[in-house]
Amino acid sequence: MTAPLLELDDLHARYGPVEALHGVSLEVGDGEVVAVLGANGAGKTTTLRAVSGTVRRSGGQVRFAGKPLRAVPEAVAKAGIAHVPEGRGTFTDLTVEENLRLGAYTRRDRQVRADIERVATWFPWLSERAGQRAGTLSGGEQQMLALARALMGRPRLVMLDEPSLGLAPMVVREIFRIVRELNVEEGLTVLVVEQDARIALETAARAYVLEVGRVAVSGSAAELEADEAVRRSYLGY
Ligand code: ATP
Repeated sequence: MTAPLLELDDLHARYGPVEALHGVSLEVGDGEVVAVLGANGAGKTTTLRAVSGTVRRSGGQVRFAGKPLRAVPEAVAKAGIAHVPEGRGTFTDLTVEENLRLGAYTRRDRQVRADIERVATWFPWLSERAGQRAGTLSGGEQQMLALARALMGRPRLVMLDEPSLGLAPMVVREIFRIVRELNVEEGLTVLVVEQDARIALETAARAYVLEVGRVAVSGSAAELEADEAVRRSYLGY
């Protein structure tokens, strides 16, 4: 692993009286793709929320680029982390282009037009659909738009929550292919939460498997895939 960009140390998080994370520690190296896997309710989404400050952290620490990261969504975005939530979070009443422009809201420079073009090299169909309402895009296109919008903020880290949700396998493969290319060609660092362990492990260098709010196993994608007991107990294939 390269130097850690994101570090979670004994992170606890709660929804009201209910603790959902009971001490999660993980690291994402600069330029790495790391997956968080696990069954329904294991705490994957909560882990991303605890990083981005959308759920209350009740213990532990998050560090980003060597500094403590406050649990305040604006501070997290400003630090260079883009969170693409489950269910995509595109603004369905706005056009494709308006969605992309919103992705650049933390930026003060005037490169937005150039960046729309840069992002469209990854998703060529975006230019043709600039004026289309996001709500009329297919599920896969909306997921890609959500990722494209995240890239508009020129993040150092993208956190993707379950990009495969409700999408056909072919579309899921296409999304992961783009994530892999962004990682290889632009050095983008990605923390991806995924229930589909098989596809996530094709892309991620390393993974953490959560079970009831704790890390049950972790290792390189190759190690996890080669371990039949891990595959059967935790990865579901
Ligand atoms: P899934 O793949 O089903 O989304 P997950 O691994 O992402 O699962 P989380 O959504 O992080 O799991 O949920 C972890 C625990 O926190 C679960 O027990 C869940 O019921 C609880 N939880 C999640 N969101 C809330 C909420 N808004 N209020 C109360 N409890 C919640």
